[in-house]
Amino acid sequence: MAAVTLQGIEKRYDAHQALSGIDLEVADGEFVALLGPSGCGKSTLLKIIAGLDAQSAGALHIGSRALHHERPSERNIAMVFQSYALYPHMSVYENLALPLAMRDLAAWQRLPLVGRFTPGYRRRRAAIDLRVREAARMLGLEPLLDRRPAQLSGGQKQRVAVGRALIRHPDVFLLDEPLSNLDAKLRGQMREEIVAVHARTGVTTIYVTHDQIEAMTMADRVALMMDGVIQQVAPPREIYADPVNLRVAGFIGSPPINALPARLEDARLAIGTRAITLPNAVAMSGSCICGIRPEALQIADADTALVAGRITRIEFLGAEAILSLEPDLPGLPVVQMRCHPEEIDHLATGDTISLTARPETLLLFNSDGARIRFQEAHASRDQPMPAFLPLRSEVHG
Ligand code: ADP
Ligand code: MG
Repeated sequence: MAAVTLQGIEKRYDAHQALSGIDLEVADGEFVALLGPSGCGKSTLLKIIAGLDAQSAGALHIGSRALHHERPSERNIAMVFQSYALYPHMSVYENLALPLAMRDLAAWQRLPLVGRFTPGYRRRRAAIDLRVREAARMLGLEPLLDRRPAQLSGGQKQRVAVGRALIRHPDVFLLDEPLSNLDAKLRGQMREEIVAVHARTGVTTIYVTHDQIEAMTMADRVALMMDGVIQQVAPPREIYADPVNLRVAGFIGSPPINALPARLEDARLAIGTRAITLPNAVAMSGSCICGIRPEALQIADADTALVAGRITRIEFLGAEAILSLEPDLPGLPVVQMRCHPEEIDHLATGDTISLTARPETLLLFNSDGARIRFQEAHASRDQPMPAFLPLRSEVHG
């Protein structure tokens, strides 16, 4: 097992810059999800780590080794793809055993019939058998060892692919959208299984996905990537509660965060003609974007409202409901509130209501999308804080 360190990784395809200045440190044994929309460069980065593609610039370390031109087979990295890539003519047992057979048996020992009479064959075969049984037990594949891939469900195939990847005890385990071909229920189950396998093996894992639920539920830390740039790396709760910019805030969360044009005046935040007082000052005045998570909105009286308007849609989802509101002020987008269904039992489409949010739940952004932070309450009045304090110096709007 080993840590993975990426420093200033760049990748150009002719004129297209697929990756720009990627810095990422994955600790030994950590599970990091690389999350981002399709085309943002996730697979490109994973292929560079695996050695299947070369970076245009930048350094890659696995453990203490600096990797430049090592071939994939020399890196002791295992990778699982969306397509399971199993050998259709081999049984599950043979598919699992193959990576070890390729490594531990000489070519002539792998020959059918002849191989078994070669010196050392039985000892090596027994060692491989032990590892195949261990992987099969860990992934619940024992009853399926004699089947061929065509006789397996999608989830079972992906489990074989995971087992085959881990059987060599790799230093690093890379997965590229491994659950995309599975239905929703099976995806949930496989999420749990992959997390359990990670907990048991402790192997450093980088998991690529465009699905925020996978990233948020599985990973120790989420690296959110857009347009070939890592925007933020943080534990799931932190990336949701404390996004560095509006793009991160907008990507994570469903329904997405409400982003409303607003104005800051001293310690007041105004949306159109309505305003609330902020808990702490922000050393900035002028126009800003007020981010309100759907669950932060509450029904309010007209005199404490932050937004008001007409209900255009109510969706009941069982344990929660989503209410959509068309604001009564021009220039504001549709606002969505998430709440308990009982809170809006008395409401119907077409009704007019007022909504507000506790000021400390608001996420404020400047017009470039960079986060504006509240000042510490104890900050001295004599030493003014900077206008805003982005977590990272390179904030991409
Ligand atoms: P993701 O996995 O996040 O969906 P990719 O890493 O596959 O994204 O691709 C990132 C960008 O690089 C895309 O715009 C894609 O078209 C481009 N790209 C990927 N591979 C190649 C290639 N071999 N040649 C040219 N462009 C490529
Ligand atoms: Mg991809």
